[in-house]
Amino acid sequence: MIAGICALLLISLGSCIDLGIEDAVRNAEAFLVKYGYLEENDYSKAQLTAAVRNFQWTAHLPVNGDLNDATVLQMLLPRCGMKDVGQTQWLHHGSFHTNHRRKRYAIKSKWYKRHLTYQILNWPWYLSQHQVRQAVQAAFQLWGNVSSLTFSEAVGDSADIRLAFFDGEHNDGARHAFDGPGGALAHAFFPRRGEAHFDNAEHWSLNGKGRNLFVVFAHEIGHTLGLQHSPFKNALMSPYYKKLGKEYVLNFDDILAIQTLYGAPSSGRLVQRPGKDFSMFEDWSAENSERRAQRKDYCQSMFDAITWDLKQTLYIFKGRSYWMMSPNGNISEPQLTQQRWKKLPAFIEAAAVSGSDGKFYFFKGGKCWRYKGSRLEAGFPRKCSDHGLPRHPDTALYFQPLGHLVIFKGDKYYVFNEKSFIVEPYYPRSLQDWKGVPHNTNAALSHPNGSIYFFRGENYWTFDQKSLKVTASGKWMQDLSWFGC
Ligand SMILES: [Zn+2]
Ligand SMILES: [Zn+2]
Repeated sequence: MIAGICALLLISLGSCIDLGIEDAVRNAEAFLVKYGYLEENDYSKAQLTAAVRNFQWTAHLPVNGDLNDATVLQMLLPRCGMKDVGQTQWLHHGSFHTNHRRKRYAIKSKWYKRHLTYQILNWPWYLSQHQVRQAVQAAFQLWGNVSSLTFSEAVGDSADIRLAFFDGEHNDGARHAFDGPGGALAHAFFPRRGEAHFDNAEHWSLNGKGRNLFVVFAHEIGHTLGLQHSPFKNALMSPYYKKLGKEYVLNFDDILAIQTLYGAPSSGRLVQRPGKDFSMFEDWSAENSERRAQRKDYCQSMFDAITWDLKQTLYIFKGRSYWMMSPNGNISEPQLTQQRWKKLPAFIEAAAVSGSDGKFYFFKGGKCWRYKGSRLEAGFPRKCSDHGLPRHPDTALYFQPLGHLVIFKGDKYYVFNEKSFIVEPYYPRSLQDWKGVPHNTNAALSHPNGSIYFFRGENYWTFDQKSLKVTASGKWMQDLSWFGC
């Protein structure tokens, strides 16, 4: 039986740890203790068997109390690091085929207010801030749509719920130390501690390959609101990692659980979002993304970057697609960025066309790409962070008065000389030079009409180049008719 596990481990982990029977049992016992099926240190053989049976029941395996291959392998699957058996017991030794859900919602740990704020403290370097914020917002919205709760991102730093990524041990006890790729992916704390932690060692993704971070955000947020693990396989709150499916993200058990704590939405209207609404966080098929893109979906939420070229064609970038708008206002069908700009990754962070050389500059992470037309120039992509530019820039634009690109990041800006490929002397400088421009914008644009536009979320700011200050602001989808939204 254990030899079988070893062979399977060889396939799934790439190396075989020569697991003796005793080791396998010891690991299994440690797992059962970690996830709440067994008391630490002191348990009898009968209690161990009962714990295995309970675990098998939760994992939807044949219940027999044996530590067989299937059971031990199930313990190796990626999952949430929270206990399955928590403050209330929905598992009862020996009676796991009756009503286990009894009292599952009788949890005293809950919030005593209806509006909660949240904050994202950090995120994996390879994901864009904008995309991570979108995913977190959507994950909170899932719960807000079916309960009386409302959520907003905190301004300043006194948020109710904080989300953060950590490696290994991170000062909340050895039990919570992260274990590298696989195994425990994340954990959270019940109200009102307001924290969810994610394992930095996972390869997280918001558009396909890797662990779908949106699903894990939504699950851990469930814990921060007071929900425990669900015994229902299709519930978002079931302990094992699931891919984002096309069907509803929350199932009836998730909805019942949140409504037991906080009641139904104040509008009385339950808005259930199917997984396919979140297709931007999951790559199901090319056909799907094409169909989605036809809805001109740069109008639905913030785009990644925007720029004008020298022929006054506007380019809007979002995910894997871009749209072109001609000077007379005709908007193209969405196209795949990779078809025009080979080797350019999806979800770029900033883009600008230089007014002096007419070339396209793209930025993402610490790298930059330069294209003449659609030809990637020799030596690119380049590590722009080696040339004095910040990693993960917020925004880039061509600034006529200086004749150079300007790169924005947080509360600073950098003037970048495209010819010598260096940051000009005395930069970065404080964003205060740009009176009224907010920090952490998502996109910026030099308009042929002479104004500069900054975008963040649903808002925009118009910056006047002569008076050097913001002269107007509003909601870009409604107010800026040239977007065609
Ligand atoms: Zn969990
Ligand atoms: Zn933690």
